[in-house]
Amino acid sequence: MTPPDFFYSPNAYSLGIIEQRAITCQCCDQVRDFYYTGGLYCKAEVDTLCPWCIADGSAAEKYSGSFVSDFEGLNPGPTGLGPPMSPSSMEQVSSHTPGYASWQGDVWLGHCGEACIFLGYVGSKELAPVWAEVRDDAVASGWGEDTIQHHMHKDGDMTGYLFQCQHCGKHRLHVDAN
Ligand SMILES: [Zn+2]
Ligand SMILES: [Zn+2]
Repeated sequence: MTPPDFFYSPNAYSLGIIEQRAITCQCCDQVRDFYYTGGLYCKAEVDTLCPWCIADGSAAEKYSGSFVSDFEGLNPGPTGLGPPMSPSSMEQVSSHTPGYASWQGDVWLGHCGEACIFLGYVGSKELAPVWAEVRDDAVASGWGEDTIQHHMHKDGDMTGYLFQCQHCGKHRLHVDAN
């Protein structure tokens, strides 16, 4: 059976967020060939989930959990601050999209009034082609523009998380470190 795709995390499989591995899913009790390597923020102990229970929202509902730790408080748009992130896009991310691996808890960015699409983990090299778009986010991150532009490696102790707006295509960047 082909596992579900995720609009807000289209690279979930190639990034290893979901791995091919035989498991018995804790939520649906089915034997599945795919395993979610990340976590669900909730009170229960949940560590064996299949991607189907993420996509259809059953895991988030059953355990009253969220796959994202926090949403960005700002709501930037092409002309400055825009409308708040729509509740429906936040719900798609928190209840139907696998989280990404982060140091301090995953923060999900938005743009043009909706949650952005998570593209993957990046360092300075990967950011070079989109640097002009993400420079403001790098400065605002407080981790140091020069460090992020020249000395960050995607497998290092400081990681960039690259997002893209689903409407205008602008790239956005979140950074954290261990
Ligand atoms: Zn399941
Ligand atoms: Zn946008």
